[in-house]
Amino acid sequence: MNILEATKNLEKKGFMDMTVSPTLDLFAEIEKLKKEKNAIILAHYYQEADIQDVADYIGDSLGLAQQAAQTDADMIVFAGVHFMAETAKILNPNKKVVLPDLHAGCSLADSAPTEAFRNFKEAHPNHIVISYINCTAEIKALSDIICTSSNAKKIVESIPENQPIIFAPDKNLGAFINKQTGRNMLLWNGSCMVHEIFSLEKILKLKQAYPEAKILAHPECEEIILKEADFIGSTTEILNFAKKDEATQFIVATEAGILHQMEKDSPQKKFIPAPPNNACACNDCPYMKLNTLEKLYLCMKYEKPEILMEEELRLAARKPIIRMLEISKASGLIK
Ligand code: SF4
Repeated sequence: MNILEATKNLEKKGFMDMTVSPTLDLFAEIEKLKKEKNAIILAHYYQEADIQDVADYIGDSLGLAQQAAQTDADMIVFAGVHFMAETAKILNPNKKVVLPDLHAGCSLADSAPTEAFRNFKEAHPNHIVISYINCTAEIKALSDIICTSSNAKKIVESIPENQPIIFAPDKNLGAFINKQTGRNMLLWNGSCMVHEIFSLEKILKLKQAYPEAKILAHPECEEIILKEADFIGSTTEILNFAKKDEATQFIVATEAGILHQMEKDSPQKKFIPAPPNNACACNDCPYMKLNTLEKLYLCMKYEKPEILMEEELRLAARKPIIRMLEISKASGLIK
């Protein structure tokens, strides 16, 4: 396909569908493009290993939002899913933000459709709305504060105890924070398809095979999985725990992409992905894995697909993100 055809098909395909020569050294080409275009690559821990290796910054949602807010690059290449690239655009209206594949969505973000959520909010007018960052710009615009799994507890604790709260869209994270804080937040009934399908039975079998292994879980997992966990935390917290803990074997109940950094940080330790309720041995996010090194290269080269947003929506969605960053700074979670 030539450039014209690829551009015409961009929306349907989600990426610039052009042939990349197999002899091209993509790592070197991507480095060249970074310099030429003053571009920065921000990648989530759930991206494939090659993408993590070319990234300028790898992080979880909080770290990525903070990096996006601070960068002086002209172009942000967001190797993650759509709502993350949207967040970068919300914080950087004058920068070009590109995403390797526009179809890299998120089942959790999809579980909160705008109109249904607006009605839910209107039915509970005395509540303030705290939304997990894994939501669309429209849901952010309907929220008072955004949170991530790294700062959710601190954000909730910053709200007076007698103030009713709606927590959206992840019911598992909401229930976990309710337990941690003793609050009774009203939970939107959303969830992440990746974190909801871990098999308790298979995890317990693994635990029998590796009795010394510690189970690490993300709070997006269901309560039955969290109950078995030795440590529950955000992606960054799980990584830090695995690095510092004296255990040498870990069963990891979150998206399997995180294992790449864990193995890099602690090559002498064994990391076993917790298996899902299907025939696969590990649990990959199908949206995150839509991004490939080829698509990353193409989106840098052609600066497409680009994230664009109406200014009114951007401004409304920016407010609760800024509140989150301010509370996170004040509580020492970020600098
Ligand atoms: S792992 Fe779950 S929450 Fe994260 S991007 Fe994939 S579907 Fe969304």
